Amino acid sequence: MENNVLKEVFATDVFSDKVMQERLPKKVYSTFKEIVENGGELDITIANVIAHAMKEWAVERGATHYTHWFQPMTGITAEKHDSFLSAQSSSDAILEFSGKELIKGEPDASSFPSGGLRATFEARGYTAWDITSPAFLREDAAGVTLCIPTAFCSYTGEALDKKTPLLRSMEAISRQATHTARLFGHDEVNKVSCSIGPEQEYFLIDREKFLQRDDLIFSGRTLFGAMPPKGQELEDHYFGSIREKIASYMKELNIELWKLGILAKTQHNEVAPAQHEMAPIYSTANIATDHNQLVMETMRKVARRHGLECLLHEKPFAGVNGSGKHDNWSLVTDTGINLLDPGKEPHNNLMFLYVLSAVIKAVNKYAPLLRLSAANAGNDHRLGANEAPPAIISIFLGEQLEDIVEQIIDKGEATSSIRGGKMDTGVLTLPNFRKDATDRNRTSPFAFTGNKFEFRMVASSMSISDANTVLNAIVADVLSEMNDEIEGLSGEAFETAVKSVIRKTLSENKNVIFNGNGYSDEWVLEAEKRGLPNIKTTVDATRYYIDPECVAMFERQGVLTEAELKSREEINYETYSKVLHIEALTMIEMASKLYIPSVIKYCSSLAASINNVKSTGIPADTSVQDELLVQSSSLLAEAKAALKDLTEKTKKAEEIEGGEPLAIYYKDVIRDAMAALRAPIDELEMIVDKELWPVPTYGDLLFEV
Ligand code: ADP
Ligand code: MG
Repeated sequence: MENNVLKEVFATDVFSDKVMQERLPKKVYSTFKEIVENGGELDITIANVIAHAMKEWAVERGATHYTHWFQPMTGITAEKHDSFLSAQSSSDAILEFSGKELIKGEPDASSFPSGGLRATFEARGYTAWDITSPAFLREDAAGVTLCIPTAFCSYTGEALDKKTPLLRSMEAISRQATHTARLFGHDEVNKVSCSIGPEQEYFLIDREKFLQRDDLIFSGRTLFGAMPPKGQELEDHYFGSIREKIASYMKELNIELWKLGILAKTQHNEVAPAQHEMAPIYSTANIATDHNQLVMETMRKVARRHGLECLLHEKPFAGVNGSGKHDNWSLVTDTGINLLDPGKEPHNNLMFLYVLSAVIKAVNKYAPLLRLSAANAGNDHRLGANEAPPAIISIFLGEQLEDIVEQIIDKGEATSSIRGGKMDTGVLTLPNFRKDATDRNRTSPFAFTGNKFEFRMVASSMSISDANTVLNAIVADVLSEMNDEIEGLSGEAFETAVKSVIRKTLSENKNVIFNGNGYSDEWVLEAEKRGLPNIKTTVDATRYYIDPECVAMFERQGVLTEAELKSREEINYETYSKVLHIEALTMIEMASKLYIPSVIKYCSSLAASINNVKSTGIPADTSVQDELLVQSSSLLAEAKAALKDLTEKTKKAEEIEGGEPLAIYYKDVIRDAMAALRAPIDELEMIVDKELWPVPTYGDLLFEV
């Protein structure tokens, strides 16, 4: 049945290649395809024809409006809706959509963050149609809208969004990797694209309960909350069978995603209670990024229809696992070669070993940039906190490749590959099958997984664009350096040069390879000895945007200019401070309006009970009430003092000037003040009568979905 649904609904809301083929004149279609594949200027007459076909298609499906859909530096998507109405007639509704409107938009975008790139008096920002990502329809309370994926730039051409640098990075990696492929004799290669499969983790909780918690509403995570008696220690949720309510959510989510042409493939329960994951089939980086935004949006929307709330925050609950995104990344030529596929005999696959070395070097050399690409205030609670990947970047290669790397470093070349061997379960009726040559390592932030790398640090709520922009740019840059060393050689001289470049690269960067347990304390010490950076917070990572070596690399690859990087740095600091500011204010509000009054009520009830007992004249023991009263009053006093302290310190933040100093203040001062307020309240939660507790607890939120 499901199969039929899939067939019936798949990509029905997408102005797909198939639709274009059906609806566009042959010549227009082929010219358009040529430009999508190989670049070039899109003629306005062609744009007019496409715009018309797009409008007709959309209107037939009920669309009244269109929007340029873009991804400003807020990390979420933005849009401004225009109707198709044309002013030509006052009695008849004439619907029009021109090529000009398709290609270019001018949202009044002065309020989007630009990090100083665009002062408000020069507010012009343009959206430009991204022809590589298909237009789609979206239905909500406003009706049906035709959404056109676009890039967002300033009047002077600077990128104001997350898409433009990603597109530039895709061109950079294509340039360098194509050159590599040709050096290795694959002259027929004209393009290399980057494939991405982002696995999305999320929490689902009851919406009624969600609405009772200001912290979840305002900051997306719980700012208070004691651990329930049961957490994830039994690991009974992971891959557990999916409950009915969640199953029906997932079913609808799949259908909504399929309609948008998103290849939602697998779904399962994750480690933490109430946590789940959805993985799509991989696609080109740009489309995968657009799709991931739609996935997040759709997850939220569908949840509400089921009386649920979807939490995409990296750490909604302290004490249980947080959420991330596993960014699966590989490079594929237009002739179908996956440059990260080791093949049957990796030791003989020189091109693979060459690209592998480039990735290893890039990740080692620019580790802080990768860390930065996954940095936000939410992810700081996750990375390095004994779960998910640590904040230290290292690479897991697996037994087979590690052995080959060792052979190369020791002997100058590898002469054998460890094989996968047969899997024998010891049960006659179970089939024996070939094992993969490498096992998995779940603790590594950057793991080789067969024919791709999996970057596991990415934050669950963030766009995957930054991570892939960085990955593409750094690998392109290293490839270009390495390519220079083997350029112009052939035959044996070429092979010798290649082997020597690989050996040198691996020897110089082997310190980043680590196959052990990334969660262990020993690794933190070992990594320090190896000189690997351990960047603990977003604030510490942000300065790498303007690190001279990083700026030079981005500029060499034409991915981001110094001014654009500077703006991103500023926005990062600003966003970090804003997030913590909201959290601090929310805590202040919850503590003063909810928790403290409830605890006072509780204390009064204890006092009344003591008095009542005493007034009977019976010499009964009130030591339990006495003790509880003393304990709660003292925690109450502690909470009140912490509240005062946090309030004053938050106020003081207003006096601090400059993005970086302010962010540092929030990181060093406010975070501690928040923790000091949380501690006594969480302790009180364990003492105070449940009836009097003003908000749903972790137990209510995590186990009663
Ligand atoms: P898991 O990591 O849970 O074992 P898989 O390895 O099957 O799951 O796939 C995880 C994700 O990686 C999926 O989104 C899948 O489409 C994607 N993926 C698979 N192969 C590639 C590839 N060559 N390049 C990029 N992504 C890929
Ligand atoms: Mg995975």
